[in-house]
Amino acid sequence: MDSTEYDVVIIGGGIIGLSTAMQLLRDKFPGWKIAVVEKDEELATHQTGHNSGVIHSGIYYRPDSHKAQFCVAGKQRLLQFCDENEIEYEKCGKVIVASDESELGRLDDLYERGVANGVQGLEKIGPERLKEIEPHVSGVAALWAPTTGIIDYRKVAMAYAMHFQQAGGDIFTGSPVNAITKSHGELLLETDRGAIRTKHVINCAGLYADRVATMMSEQIDVRIIPFRGEYYTLRDESHHLVSGLIYPVPDPRFPFLGVHYTRNIKGYVEAGPNAVLAFSREGYRKSNVDLSESWATMSYGGFWKMTRKHWKTGISEMNRSYRKSVFVNDLQKLIPEISAADLASGGSGVRAQAVDTRGFILDDFRIIRGREAVHVLNAPSPGATSSLAIGEHIAGLAAESFGEHG
Ligand SMILES: Cc1cc2nc3c(=O)[nH]c(=O)nc-3n(C[C@H](O)[C@H](O)[C@H](O)COP(=O)(O)OP(=O)(O)OC[C@H]3O[C@@H](n4cnc5c(N)ncnc54)[C@H](O)[C@@H]3O)c2cc1C
Repeated sequence: MDSTEYDVVIIGGGIIGLSTAMQLLRDKFPGWKIAVVEKDEELATHQTGHNSGVIHSGIYYRPDSHKAQFCVAGKQRLLQFCDENEIEYEKCGKVIVASDESELGRLDDLYERGVANGVQGLEKIGPERLKEIEPHVSGVAALWAPTTGIIDYRKVAMAYAMHFQQAGGDIFTGSPVNAITKSHGELLLETDRGAIRTKHVINCAGLYADRVATMMSEQIDVRIIPFRGEYYTLRDESHHLVSGLIYPVPDPRFPFLGVHYTRNIKGYVEAGPNAVLAFSREGYRKSNVDLSESWATMSYGGFWKMTRKHWKTGISEMNRSYRKSVFVNDLQKLIPEISAADLASGGSGVRAQAVDTRGFILDDFRIIRGREAVHVLNAPSPGATSSLAIGEHIAGLAAESFGEHG
């Protein structure tokens, strides 16, 4: 391993770590020694490589939240970055559909939020206009967000990595950080490929962000609870049922958006994701069980408090996960003619969702700083859309904290 002493090491080579690395080196500390350390052999293989690929426009989030601010600003910057770097994306537009009258109030609330957040071109539409946009969808009303788009976030992350390396940054893959110790004013990161010395750390470890914070003896009031999102893929002959992105009105008590249809930039159509508790932080299959990680979840008081609040939803998510007919029923609320025969098994992703000690599922991004570190403790969706704005924010925090005693 490199014997250099780094000024900053970023732990985690996902889209947030790489965006931060690029902007920290380019805009805040040109000339500093900065490295990204990634545990896997390849970059961007977890949340960044297992998501819906939607460029969100910023409708759902409380107007005073980081999510609203970073999503709207991040989207603009992302599109500009993609234009400059010839990364393909498509503004295919999205409808959020009220299936019956009982959802109209919540649809109105979403419209108000979207307008307050500055979402461009957002429109309330009736069933006729909905049929023009999505001929196979049924609903009593909808919101139409024409600027919502689709993209491959892995390609974006790889472009961030390229810019970072071109500016002189180092990337070490295949190097899980297993322990962090402090001696003589520097931090020693122990990895499978040797130790790395650094003055400062930025923790962008996604599903393991709480573990990395704990390695630095940070007192944190959250734990990452992994929620798997499972998808079906529409068979080729059923693609015509979906033109763009079709979402239900979400349950406002949860940060998840409800199972929806997504046209993927790679040409296929996905239905999902649901949100089921995973028994392994990188458990992409139902059969993946990691005993020590499951124990970490089960022994956390916040998990049981969350379960007491939301056990009914938890059970219905499990039911939908194991019974395709239930999944199909939910999808039929949006497209009545969809049937089980239209759906083949698809992929999955695991969300790193922070839950606090009182059992609350954190709704907003959570980024905290210590003297030697910045920790990204909650960056679920729309984290990929927001990656440039989040990275800029983290780089700013790092400049304030590390610049003084660099
Ligand atoms: C199912 C699903 C659907 C989603 N859909 C969307 C969407 O449509 N639009 C959107 O904007 N967002 C979406 N998101 C959210 C988005 O994917 C995340 O916000 C974003 O990818 C988070 O990036 P990250 O860099 O924080 O995490 P990650 O991509 O998970 O990266 C963290 C990295 O840290 C590494 N790491 C962990 N521990 C260590 C260690 N000890 N040492 C070294 N490296 C370590 C991991 O290997 C990993 O590569 C979705 C997420 C999921 C799961």
